[in-house]
This record gives sequence, C-alpha cells and structure tokens, in this order.
Amino acid sequence: MFIEARIKLTAWYLAIIMAISIFFSVIIYRGATFEIDRIQRIQILRHPLGATYVLDSDVLRETKQRIVLWLVMINSSIFIISAIAGYFLAGKTLEPIRTNVENQKKFISDSSHELRTPLTSLKTEIEVALRDKKLSLSNAKVQLKSNLEDVNKMQRLANYLLKLNVYEDGQKLPMTKVDLKEIALDAVGKRKIKTNLKKSIVAGNKDSLTELLTILIDNAIKYGEGKEVEVRVKPKGVVEIEDHGIGISDEDLPHIFDRFYRSDKSRGTDGYGLGLSIAKSIVDLHHGTIKVESKLGQGSKFTVLI
Ligand code: ADP
Repeated sequence: MFIEARIKLTAWYLAIIMAISIFFSVIIYRGATFEIDRIQRIQILRHPLGATYVLDSDVLRETKQRIVLWLVMINSSIFIISAIAGYFLAGKTLEPIRTNVENQKKFISDSSHELRTPLTSLKTEIEVALRDKKLSLSNAKVQLKSNLEDVNKMQRLANYLLKLNVYEDGQKLPMTKVDLKEIALDAVGKRKIKTNLKKSIVAGNKDSLTELLTILIDNAIKYGEGKEVEVRVKPKGVVEIEDHGIGISDEDLPHIFDRFYRSDKSRGTDGYGLGLSIAKSIVDLHHGTIKVESKLGQGSKFTVLI
C-alpha cells in the first residue's frame, strides 16, 4: 500500500517538475531561436547578396539543433534527478503516516486481544452454567457475580479507549485558570495520603487535570505496597507524586507511557497499561512535561509540569 502511494507521489512530483522544466525550456528555445532568426534577418538586410555573411544559415540551423539537444539533455537530467529525489522525498513525507497507521493497527490488535480475554471467560462461564441442569440459585448468583466482574473489566477498558481517543485526538479542551492545589485535593478525595499542597495557578482543563492526577495517585497506591504515598503541589505548575513501592526497572522505564505496556512485576495487579498513556496525552494537551524517577524495589516519583 505504501510502495504504491510512494510511487504515485513520486509520479506527481515528477509531473509537476517536468511540466515546469518543459515550459521554461520552450521559452528558452523560443528566445534563443528568436535571437538567431534576428541575427539572420540583420545579415540579410546588411548583405543582401549574401557573399559576406559572417554566419551562414547552416551554422545558424546547426546552432538551433544544438540548443534543442542541450535542452533535451538538461530535461533528461532533471527527470532522472527529480525521480530519485522525488522517490526519496515521497518516502520521507509518507513516513509519519506509515508510523501512524502501524501504531493504529497495533492499537486495534492490542485492544481486541484485551477485550477477548474477559469475553471468552464470560462466554465459557455462561455456557457451563446453562449446561448445568441442577444449578442452584446461590450458585447462579456466584456465577452472575463473576460475570459482572468481567463486564466491569470490559466497561473499564472501553472507557479507557474512549478517553484515549478524546485526548490523543488533540481536541481543544476548554482551558481556564485553575488551581492545582484544588485539583490535587479533588483527586486525593477521601484517600489517606500525605499531602503538601501550595497554591499553583495554571491555565488548564480542570476535568482532565483531575483525571491525570487521579491516574498517578491510583498507580502510586496500586504499586505502593501499602507504604506512604505523598502528593506535593509546588508553585509554577509543579506536581509530584511519590511512592515507596515496587519501583520500575531501567528496562521498563522507557516504555511505561506506551499503550498497553505493563511491566512483568505489575501483571499480578489489575490494569490494562493505558493509564499512563492517557496521563501523557493530557500533559501533552497542556504543553507540559511528565518525568519519572524510579528505582526497582525502592519506589517512584512522577513529576508533572503544567
Ligand atoms: P496499569 O497500571 O493499568 O498497568 P499504566 O499505564 O498506569 O497501566 O502503567 C503502566 C505500567 O507502568 C504499569 O503496568 C507499571 O508496570 C508501571 N507503573 C506505573 N506507575 C507505577 C508506580 N507508581 N510504581 C511502579 N510501577 C508503575
């Protein structure tokens, strides 16, 4: 698909360049032959008998032919150079689109895979229950509870996917002046977390920033091994969320913001590996930065600058 598009784009580049080149070649040829004809006319006027022509008509005809030859050679060189450069440039132009399409494909395949797991379990459980002729009411309730868990999982995944779509779409969110201290208080909610919150006014979208801090706080608790979690808001739009839990290895660190990425150590906990991708998209929408410092077994510190 991309090879075909690359060749088509190269053909378009070439067609445009050659049209311009041929247009100017015709003008150059017309100009040059006009001058040659003028010289010929002047010679005829000055020496009507033709005996003392400085340039005879054969030389002039040959000059015209040589001009044509030169122009053909120049146009052929332009054609070859443009074809090579055009093919290269078309590749460069299409590269971001190609990467994007590949990412989308991977995203669709990962999402389907994640959806298939709870769906398969749901289907199997329902089939087994239907086959059980002596299924008691209490067993049926246990069954339904387990089904509900699977449905909740799928709903959570669908919500994550929808959010990712909204934030990664780069849609303009309404921005107002917001206090990160208030947002952090909202995100912490009733959870027992150490806080050190200073007033910090930034231009941002309240709901998405609350979502961002909620994701980071949820992770700090989830991977915090029950140890202390601290949220700090500093002036000039800085928020830090620190835990003393499992930490992140150096191999995992570069990937944690990738969609569906989960470290091996976190496989035992609930999650889809989408929280930090959403967090990163929200930070990007605010033209901010998100950094993480972490040591395996010692904990992690996420620093957001809005
Ligand atoms: P999820 O938590 O659902 O797996 P996230 O996108 O929020 O997805 O996080 C991606 C991965 O980054 C997690 O699976 C985990 O390995 C790692 N991670 C994120 N936050 C922390 C943290 N505070 N401590 C240790 N590891 C973390």
